[in-house]
Amino acid sequence: MSDSGPAHPAHGALDLRVDEARAAIHAALRPLAETQAIALSAALGRVLAADVISPIDVPAHDNSAMDGYALNGSELQPGQPVQLRIVATVLAGAPLARSMAPGECVRIMTGAVMPDGLDTVVPQELCEASGGLLRIDADVVHAGDNRRLRGEDLARGRAALRAGRRLGPADLGLVASLGLTGVNVFRRLRVAVFSTGNELRSAGEPLGPGCIYDSNRHSLMAAVQRLGLQALDLGLVRDEPAALQAALARASAQADVVLVSGGVSGGDADHTRELLNRSGELAFWKVAMRPGRPLAFGTLRRAPGNTATLANDRPVWLFALPGNPVAALTAFYVFARDALLLLAGATEPPLASLRARTLAPIRKRAGRSEYLRGVVSRGADGDWQVRLTGPQGSGVLRSMSEANALLLLPQEQGPVAAGDWVEVWLFDGLT
Ligand code: AMP
Ligand code: MG
Repeated sequence: MSDSGPAHPAHGALDLRVDEARAAIHAALRPLAETQAIALSAALGRVLAADVISPIDVPAHDNSAMDGYALNGSELQPGQPVQLRIVATVLAGAPLARSMAPGECVRIMTGAVMPDGLDTVVPQELCEASGGLLRIDADVVHAGDNRRLRGEDLARGRAALRAGRRLGPADLGLVASLGLTGVNVFRRLRVAVFSTGNELRSAGEPLGPGCIYDSNRHSLMAAVQRLGLQALDLGLVRDEPAALQAALARASAQADVVLVSGGVSGGDADHTRELLNRSGELAFWKVAMRPGRPLAFGTLRRAPGNTATLANDRPVWLFALPGNPVAALTAFYVFARDALLLLAGATEPPLASLRARTLAPIRKRAGRSEYLRGVVSRGADGDWQVRLTGPQGSGVLRSMSEANALLLLPQEQGPVAAGDWVEVWLFDGLT
């Protein structure tokens, strides 16, 4: 056990709570600062480094919210029908060239610029037009109705989006609606991923006796990529000090963050712990959770002779995740996901969860958080329901692959009865 390292909550012989471990991680993080200007077409998933200020009023003109007839609201008298002369048709993109006189109105389409002096639109289904005349019954429309005001969505000079925003489809549309072709974003966070263990082989290689294929590197790299971050594949690393040392040096020369799986549980042949201890400021935790109890987190010293362009005044953050595939990915979601987004410059509310009724009882003892894999679907009563995906061993990756959600059973929770509400994170929300 390291006595130093980042905030290291003392907890006697007890395991650390999940929220304590998360808090200790977050207290040690510093978001990256380097920014770049990029084209809008390349900006999906990137994190804004500066507010996007609107250079225009949106909408740029008062315009009609309806297909109908535009008139001057002062022509309307309470309790009185009104009749007006239709003098023109105004289409979107073609403002009216002439000026309006009393007693006149125009046919107008949605989005068309309101002619000068007109401030009210009567929808076509609420009036009657024939022979160049428009008749409107008493009180069907009031002055100012059905007109969108210039700048009502966004006034020029106001922030349309704030720094820290991870750009989604609607955001890109919003930026384009301001006429902007690019945005300032943080450079992409670089996350090096490698797997440790002499028993591991890469897919495509022959599988020797006692060996297994490495799955963690692929799951973890994909999880990193799905966050919009850059994943660097550092391959398989044998559980030998020299190999680990070299891998850590390579990782710390190229990446902002290192994600390593395997070798933190303290087995005899696992050199990861010992070596990590000498490579930086690491804390080794036993977290009160299942799966994913062993976890190490901290910072590495940058390797001497670092040739990368990374700022040398920043540490390299390291997450050492448990080796069991379900534990590795669960620990990623519980500890690394939010931390990586924060390092990448994003400021986001916590992941949204929803509540679902469990279809079967769940054995659970108070004293540790549990993360089970389940399938959430809509029940006949319209409520969300969830069933577990078979055996929940921390090595059973199929339980995660078949699932669409992670059940979050909090530390204090005891046994769960069928029909009880449980909290879940949908995997499709884990981006
Ligand atoms: P460890 O944390 O290194 O003690 O590993 C715990 C279990 O997870 C062992 O059964 C390992 O073989 C397995 N394991 C470790 N790393 C991986 C990996 N990258 N892919 C699949 N299984 C792994
Ligand atoms: Mg191992």
